[in-house]
Amino acid sequence: MKLSSMLLNTLKEDPRDAEVPSHRLMLRAGMIKRLASGIYSYLPYGLKALRRVENIVRQEMDNAGSQEVLLPGVQPSELWKESGRWDLYGKELLRFKDRKGAEFCLGPTHEEVITDLARREVTSYKDLPLILYQIQTKFRDEIRPRFGIMRAREFIMKDAYSFDRDDASAEKSYEIMFNTYERIFNRCGLDFKPVEADTGSIGGSFSHEFMVLAETGEDMILSCNNCKYAANVERAESLGPDSIGFSQAPKGKPNKVHTPGVKTISQVCEFLGVKQEKLVKTLVYNTSSGPVAAMVRGDHDVNEAKLRTLLGVSWIELADDKTVQEVTGAPVGFAGPVGLGIKVVADLSLVDGSPYVTGANEEDYHLTNVWLSRDARIDLVGDIRFTQPGEPCPRCKKGTLQGIRGIEVGHVFKLGLKYSKAMNAVFTDVDGEVKPMVMGCYGIGIGRTVAAAIEQNHDDSGIIFPVSIAPYPVLVLPVDVKQGPVMEHALRIYEDLKTAGIDVMMDDRDERPGVKFKDADLVGVPYRITVGKRSLDRGVVEVKERSTGKVEDVNPDNVVGYCRSILKDKGS
Ligand SMILES: [Zn+2]
Repeated sequence: MKLSSMLLNTLKEDPRDAEVPSHRLMLRAGMIKRLASGIYSYLPYGLKALRRVENIVRQEMDNAGSQEVLLPGVQPSELWKESGRWDLYGKELLRFKDRKGAEFCLGPTHEEVITDLARREVTSYKDLPLILYQIQTKFRDEIRPRFGIMRAREFIMKDAYSFDRDDASAEKSYEIMFNTYERIFNRCGLDFKPVEADTGSIGGSFSHEFMVLAETGEDMILSCNNCKYAANVERAESLGPDSIGFSQAPKGKPNKVHTPGVKTISQVCEFLGVKQEKLVKTLVYNTSSGPVAAMVRGDHDVNEAKLRTLLGVSWIELADDKTVQEVTGAPVGFAGPVGLGIKVVADLSLVDGSPYVTGANEEDYHLTNVWLSRDARIDLVGDIRFTQPGEPCPRCKKGTLQGIRGIEVGHVFKLGLKYSKAMNAVFTDVDGEVKPMVMGCYGIGIGRTVAAAIEQNHDDSGIIFPVSIAPYPVLVLPVDVKQGPVMEHALRIYEDLKTAGIDVMMDDRDERPGVKFKDADLVGVPYRITVGKRSLDRGVVEVKERSTGKVEDVNPDNVVGYCRSILKDKGS
């Protein structure tokens, strides 16, 4: 494509509302244009990158034996009522009525539609396993869309769903998709990590997020420096004590200490002259099965996702001041386990047998020398806190967990029977029994993958596209379009590359070289072939690699072969 006739308008200045590099650079490189809040148009240069990712995804999904479908974006409410999500999904689900008054929504995801399809198409175990996928536009009415297409309301996603006859087979499908995702993100040229994610009520290690590692990422990952263990901070396990034991015999009695107005952890520590880890933080939660007190060390924080899973409740929220007063008999800041009349859950790190400082369940009082084994009634012990960077690895127990940031670009998840049971998606098994299908779901944010690639690969001058997803891997740049021999050589190289099947762009604009070089760096073309009078006098053109800045002199007659071999090396 020749730039003179291409719809590619670059911006010299940073757009004011762009918070992250990918958003800023995609706007500046003329890839996307905002239409409304969280809704973007893809312009030719941006769409080309999107299509590159799509092609890789499609090839790998097809190779893995899954089949492509295209499901409607508009979905009838009946299916969502069957699954129970019409009421549960909340305001992110954009609902509307048609002219006859029938209710619909814009699909934010397609479990309901695909389950409906499977229950109508699959009848026998012979039809299984089955993996279907689509690449399609979705809509989630995010309250605060931001970061450009990274957190948009309308977005393009590859979603896949697997159907199997039993758990063992479902786990095989999961593994196939997991391996396929590794191939996809490798081919996209990304530095990524599959990390264990929260499985909610499903349990087991059947939920992984694929994270592109970038400092600007929204997600915090804890990753072992010795083994392969990596998990989202929501999910990361902590290594508890070797054994749960109150080995030391309690000594003395709890002392009630007057602590007027001393409420926060740091205030208590300062007032009593103790370290945070010798303090018990007691938080009261309302849950779907009543109020619960959760205890963690003063230097730890309660992980509500872990607590919810441990309790096996459907929802959980921090209790308000009034409930805390009712439950503990004291205002917020003085709760403690001694004499508490509700269910008490203790974090693993507290059961080491040493005495602690706790709230006294009385305004302006704390207790010191509390031996949890003797003085408190603990109903449940488990891992209910956020694991922190620097802690030992829960898997190999030798390594240390490091905190790294990432952007979630893919998610694989074993759904189990959730939708097939609710929607009666059944098949007849080999033994003649009618059973619900075991399902899994697998998503990749296509636009988000492009944005994440830019977050990971950019510098002050602009984007540095990985070759495999670059809109155009090669740019021919004649320094002066008015010089006959320069333009002749440039045009010949451009045509030869096109004939060789290489996606090439040519900057044939009558602009100053500095402007053209700046734009080339901004839009991130991996290889720039500069055709200028001075180098032609030496019998060469210059090929510059965007990622390294390395320049090579190449004979104009050898440019096609040269490009072929470097692009092949880079997996294009
Ligand atoms: Zn480890």
